[in-house]
Amino acid sequence: MSNNNGYFSTTIPPSTAKATTPGAHDADVPVAQPTSLKRVVSGAALKELLASGSSSQTKTPSKVDNMFQNYSHSEIARDTATIKNSVIMHLTATFLRTPTSMDSGHAYLASAFSVRDRLLQRWNLTNEFHDRMKAKRVYYMSLEFLIGRTFDNALLALDLRKEYGQTLGEVGFRLEDIIDEERDAALGNGGLGRLAACYVDSMACSDYPGWGYGLRYKYGMFQQQILNGYQVEVPDCWLDSPNPWEFPRPDVTYPVKFYGHLVRDPNNDDRYIWESNVVYDAMAFDVPVPGYGTTNVGNIRLWSCKTNSLFDLNKFNSGDYGGATGGQVAAQILTDVLYPNDNTNDGKELRLRQEYLFCSATMQDIIARFKKTGRPMSELPELAAIQLNDTHPTLGVPELMRILLDEEEMSWDDAWEVTTRTFAFTNHTILPEAMEKWPVPMLDKILPRHMGIIYKINLYFLQAVEKRFPGDRDLLRRISIIEESNPQQVRMAFLACVGSHKVNGVAAIHSDIIKQTIFKDFVRIQGEDKFINKTNGVSPRRWMNECNPDMSDLITDVVGDRSWVNDLAKVKKLEERVADEDFRRRWWDAKQKNKQRLAEYILTTTGIQVNPNALFDVQVKRIHEYKRQLMNILSVIYRYHCLKQMTPEVRAKELHRVVIFAGKAASGYWVAKQVIKLINAVAEVVNADEEIGDVLKVVFIPDYSVTAAEYIIPASDISQHISTAGTEASGTSNMKFVLNGGIILGTVDGANIEIGEEIGEEQIFFFGCLAHEVEDFRHYLRFNQPKPDDALQTAFDMIQRNTFGDGAIFQPLIDSVVRGGDVYLLSVDFPSYIQAHNAVEDAYRNREEWITKSILSVARMSKFSSDRSIQEYAEEVWNIEPVRVTSCSMGI
Ligand SMILES: *Cc1c(COP(=O)(O)O)cnc(C)c1O
Repeated sequence: MSNNNGYFSTTIPPSTAKATTPGAHDADVPVAQPTSLKRVVSGAALKELLASGSSSQTKTPSKVDNMFQNYSHSEIARDTATIKNSVIMHLTATFLRTPTSMDSGHAYLASAFSVRDRLLQRWNLTNEFHDRMKAKRVYYMSLEFLIGRTFDNALLALDLRKEYGQTLGEVGFRLEDIIDEERDAALGNGGLGRLAACYVDSMACSDYPGWGYGLRYKYGMFQQQILNGYQVEVPDCWLDSPNPWEFPRPDVTYPVKFYGHLVRDPNNDDRYIWESNVVYDAMAFDVPVPGYGTTNVGNIRLWSCKTNSLFDLNKFNSGDYGGATGGQVAAQILTDVLYPNDNTNDGKELRLRQEYLFCSATMQDIIARFKKTGRPMSELPELAAIQLNDTHPTLGVPELMRILLDEEEMSWDDAWEVTTRTFAFTNHTILPEAMEKWPVPMLDKILPRHMGIIYKINLYFLQAVEKRFPGDRDLLRRISIIEESNPQQVRMAFLACVGSHKVNGVAAIHSDIIKQTIFKDFVRIQGEDKFINKTNGVSPRRWMNECNPDMSDLITDVVGDRSWVNDLAKVKKLEERVADEDFRRRWWDAKQKNKQRLAEYILTTTGIQVNPNALFDVQVKRIHEYKRQLMNILSVIYRYHCLKQMTPEVRAKELHRVVIFAGKAASGYWVAKQVIKLINAVAEVVNADEEIGDVLKVVFIPDYSVTAAEYIIPASDISQHISTAGTEASGTSNMKFVLNGGIILGTVDGANIEIGEEIGEEQIFFFGCLAHEVEDFRHYLRFNQPKPDDALQTAFDMIQRNTFGDGAIFQPLIDSVVRGGDVYLLSVDFPSYIQAHNAVEDAYRNREEWITKSILSVARMSKFSSDRSIQEYAEEVWNIEPVRVTSCSMGI
């Protein structure tokens, strides 16, 4: 172990920056009471209940049970008169408006707050109950939660959609318009953040005691505007208007230290005292997660940096106004922005401090909650499981070690045992540019104690390996958590792996690949059993029931009730109806209606008119070279060329097609942004070509989001998931599309493979090279010019002949294929891609065959419910069980 890592034994004067009171308060005590309406528990009874909660050990169970009974039977009434009263109460008392001055914005806010009262009541009940049951909880740590909108989701979960529609109708509003007033909570980049949102939804709906932990970014990622065909990023000020779906918790605040010095405890070798006067306060905001068909309400706890105490009154009084607020600014920027990266690692110092603020506050909070049970720290793994969603929360491992060693005074071995039994780690990518690494000098400066702990974790790990594989120095170099580069780097994926008892990939192929690549040596050392697969899933609540009401009503007719929303295996019953003429027609009509709705959305967002009877061909996801939107637009260019060659008579017989793109590019990712420009340049020319008319339209929908996805996905006929084999860990939008009766055109990659296995290969269009062939092709292309086929060459030629404006600006994209080694193998896969497109077209022309594919697909997709994923995690990783909140008078 090195001694140049910031360990000083000199005594240091006591820290001047006295940390504000740590959140020693009861973190789960509610701050607000349900609005006083019919049948609400009386204030006195509530008080008594809460008092019983904080010292529940001393109460006799029967008495507490009794109170829960009373409490649970006092849900706010569900009749429209009560709803109307509560909406008007919020309108007047929360927003200082009157019914006559109510606009749709305030109609939304007042309605949302009235719904929130109900969630709050259930939220309290859930957490009281879980505390009292001493239930083991899972904590899902994720730097991103892409939750989208909550209002409609909550109405459906509470089964109050009809009632609110009626109530709003009575005061002159359409529910759909009111729903549209809500802004997305855009606390994520893409699939990884959406996965976290689906997972907390599934935990709530399946009654698993689970919380999400994350950061409350003041500006979501960014709002994407398209100017002159280019992506322009503007701040997404999503918190400008009141957010009904968060509860500030000023009482739940923890100090988080940075920089400073270490003092060794003379009486305890494992223990250090970390002194610093750079201390920020992380304050909690709770976001309720409505459980559908259950009283259970989950929680996402998001941290925000609190700045009030950092105002420097002395500087202010001496006239140094900038200096007076300087500390506040420095603190605030910690939770201002979400790094707009997807599958890249931006090793910025601010990002590291952000990650630590998140991890430290979360660990302190989990431990504070655990301590209230009165059990010894060694039993933490009995009551808490922590899942690391990718490497971003990995500092949780050394942070838990620090707390156990320095504050709880545990021995190293005991602390390490508790830590590794508590954490599990999900890997999301093997793209080299995404591997998170931090320079040792930077970590050492910002988090000296953690650097020391990481050194020691690594030392003990390497010693154990050396014992088993003596003399294999290359092995030690390969698996070391510290990479021997200049400067040295901490490999976060390795730290997460060593600190966890289970490591999983997110689809079968991906979990295999990580065992053969980055974790190959770890599998040999730590055993096969530690490395498992947990194929991703998506929430049927949001991605079927909410976004596709017509198809959902059809499924409900077949199943007999709506219980399939929480038990997706029931959709299997659709297969019985695949030959039913009437049912098939209604199935088709539902899709057509969704296409009509998307056509309207496209018109309002882009001004482009599309024909809802055309084939809707969709690729919506983050823009990235490995996802190959470039290959897609090049095939569109080739199609355009072919159409132009035809006589008008022949062309008129062609299948009409709308090619739809959406997605954000990371702000610093120049190539991806050029792809957006190319798509828009092609769209401009093609859409204005009168010869082409409705035969081909190209659309780029700006500012892709969960809400945009909820419009787009139910309307797709074919969707493209065409990553180079082996590069997309799983994908989740592929699942969403098929769950909405769309067909996939895709590569043999990620979850496409398992989708094909489940629904049958007739229901999916595969093309392209296989993952095990990729390395050979790449190797070949490093030393040989790629050979574009005629179709691809034609597309390049058209660009270079300035068909879509100045071709020179797109030359770098062409060069990435013909001169850059074609890393993503466009030239290899293009011929089979075009063939697959032709197969899709033939199949779509046979409408009856297409409807059959669509129905069978949905019927066989139950594996891809996130409920299944969560159940697997619960049983095989977290060792937790559902805890259903006791009987409730709700009729759902
Ligand atoms: C599901 C989803 C994603 C993930 O899409 P992939 O195609 O799996 O990359 C990204 N963004 C949003 C808004 C989503 O809903």
